[in-house]
Amino acid sequence: MPQQHSCSFCGKTPLSKNEIGITKKLYGAKPRNFFCIECLARHLEISTQDVLDTIEDYKAEGCKMFE
Ligand SMILES: [Zn+2]
Repeated sequence: MPQQHSCSFCGKTPLSKNEIGITKKLYGAKPRNFFCIECLARHLEISTQDVLDTIEDYKAEGCKMFE
């Protein structure tokens, strides 16, 4: 059973594979906190669409951390 992660800001549980993947991409392989897409966007002051676009870019590169 994979470990479940929660958003450190809003508590959303469980986070999707994409949300975990993008957190690792932005904060390193073993981030202390995980964030959902909405909280990431707010934290980075970008739109949620920007976060989704970034995830799509990584997926297009064949990154296995995303689904
Ligand atoms: Zn959140």
